[in-house]
Amino acid sequence: MDIQTTQTTPANPATPATSQDIQHGVQVLLGRNRSFAATDARQQATPLPFVPRELAYVITCIDPRVDPGQILGVGIGDAIVARSVGGRVNDAVINDMAWISYLKETIAPDEPFFEVAVIHHTDCGSALMADDRLRTGFAERNHLDATARDALLDVAVTDPHTTVRHDVERLLASPDISPRIRVSGHVYDVTTGLVTTIAPATNRQQD
Ligand SMILES: [Zn+2]
Repeated sequence: MDIQTTQTTPANPATPATSQDIQHGVQVLLGRNRSFAATDARQQATPLPFVPRELAYVITCIDPRVDPGQILGVGIGDAIVARSVGGRVNDAVINDMAWISYLKETIAPDEPFFEVAVIHHTDCGSALMADDRLRTGFAERNHLDATARDALLDVAVTDPHTTVRHDVERLLASPDISPRIRVSGHVYDVTTGLVTTIAPATNRQQD
């Protein structure tokens, strides 16, 4: 059966999605995977240790409108991609980069280092964390104390130009990240489709 041709939209848009509908959506993607597997795209990816072909490590939002494969043309093997709410540089993002950085220095010391691009975007859903009612409700539901609740406010990308500069500085200041890694900051405009560089690439250990 060709899964891609299967109807995916509920007959009545007013009908709430069921778990079966959700599984159905994943089945569409799995059908696309079979099409992908039939190509030779995988042979274009670099083997371990995976120094990405474009020497790029992209951090961006989980928002489906901000897919690096679409807005940056990131193909298989081109870049390491990390996604978080708002594209924020949090502890998990830093820990992952520290691990990759260690692998790079240990297994592929002679290969060039990748550059990190932090990309925040306009109309970011993370800004909803600045809504007192939503933030308080989320904190209550997840039994967060007042400190953790207030920390959610720091995640909100209400001004991507400001938050992306903040996150670039946070990465550059992290002792867990190799000083050889250059970091840049950018803002993606979901209306125009353009990415604008806000913080040019720099690193702690100046060339
Ligand atoms: Zn977002």
